[in-house]
Amino acid sequence: MKLGFHGGAGTVTGSRFLLESGRRRLLIDCGMFQGLKELRLLNWRKPGFNPRSVDAILLTHAHIDHSGYLPRLVRDGFRGPIYCTQATRELAGILLRDAAKIQEEDAEYANRKGFSKHKPALPLFTLHDAERALALIETRPLRQRFAAAGFEATLYDAGHILGSTFAEVRGEEGGSVETLVFSGDIGRYDGPMHADPAVLPACDTLIMESTYGDRRHPDLPMEVQLEAPLRQTLSRGGTVLIPAFAVARAQHVLMLLHRLMDAGRLPRVPVHLDSPMAIDVTSIYRRNAETEHLELSREDLYGEWVRFHRTVPQSMELNALAGPRIIIASSGMMTGGRVLHHLKRLLPDEKSLIVLVGYQAAGTRGRKLQEGAQFIRMHGREVPAKARLISVEGLSAHADADDLERWLFSGATPPRTVFLVHGEPESAKALAARLASRGLDVRVPALDETFELEGAWRSAQVEQL
Ligand code: ZN
Repeated sequence: MKLGFHGGAGTVTGSRFLLESGRRRLLIDCGMFQGLKELRLLNWRKPGFNPRSVDAILLTHAHIDHSGYLPRLVRDGFRGPIYCTQATRELAGILLRDAAKIQEEDAEYANRKGFSKHKPALPLFTLHDAERALALIETRPLRQRFAAAGFEATLYDAGHILGSTFAEVRGEEGGSVETLVFSGDIGRYDGPMHADPAVLPACDTLIMESTYGDRRHPDLPMEVQLEAPLRQTLSRGGTVLIPAFAVARAQHVLMLLHRLMDAGRLPRVPVHLDSPMAIDVTSIYRRNAETEHLELSREDLYGEWVRFHRTVPQSMELNALAGPRIIIASSGMMTGGRVLHHLKRLLPDEKSLIVLVGYQAAGTRGRKLQEGAQFIRMHGREVPAKARLISVEGLSAHADADDLERWLFSGATPPRTVFLVHGEPESAKALAARLASRGLDVRVPALDETFELEGAWRSAQVEQL
């Protein structure tokens, strides 16, 4: 049996793990590399295996760093089934079409401005490729074993986002059975929205994410962090702007606001969701609320004071409305999207409040504001930053180091070998040291490193196409 790490190794994006037994090849996740340019360029190299040779794919969840390379793999010859949950299929439909649109627009822009080295600049994949990938999806229920490329697979709830799973895979070779678990992304314990991650089944080998392998999430509940600053702003007639990623984060914020207003801890002011993608995702969350992925009913998701702004004219209406009110818009780091129009109007007003609810990457407007910038450049001019700004911590949908350790030891017997993936090198190293001190055999694979099972996993030579 062979296990190849063709993404999500040494970095948090691009998860792609290839499991081989005899002539059968199963790929677990098919993510896009994201972030800094040197990472994004990895999307343009060959993936480390022939796409035509892969028999099937298990998709743990819809996030682009796990699903975003699927259209390209199909474009390059993959024809097998893609297995995932029903909710993942619905969310992947939104995310992959959106990713394709961005690819096409970026290529078109590069051609128009003439700054691409490649003439003409090409998208990584098109909407047509995304549709072909989506057509290959076959949904599977949780906790029911099914055949996948000659292996036996079972999906369990990972508690990370709607539809998210970890995958147990059993393979037989030379008369012995090997059980592997691929964690996907693991959610948090005792979170307000998603169920706890399911218990880890007994397994020989665990391939586990390590995004927050060196960190602990703060204990202060998010409602408490939000309550006082929002109440102050709203009682002065100010407007609160919450930039939020459209998938999972915007719905989480809606739910927290609902709870605070319902309990009388915040005044019931209008809440505006100004993002067609977040509106679509919210309806998927509502439709799936009573499945086992979520610990809330459809009524818990948002109150009757929420207004949805789908079209551009509906979004423009907001410009004429004074506070008190709350606007939720994308993108979460203010790199683009409708949030910029609201930011331009609200940032110079000291009565407004900007609430950052997610990670702000270096170089983004969000990070600059977090670091105390006096002016922010938008649409070609400098906008003074007079509004109040707060960062709410702990909305991450990822397990922290304590959660990961708890999950790893949640089953009857811990795995024999643990491969740590999907983490920056420092995170993976810190978690590896912690787990090794508990007597586990822990490996941190390099990109494209392949291991062979000969009693134990042995690093083999990197296979080139
Ligand atoms: Zn994820």
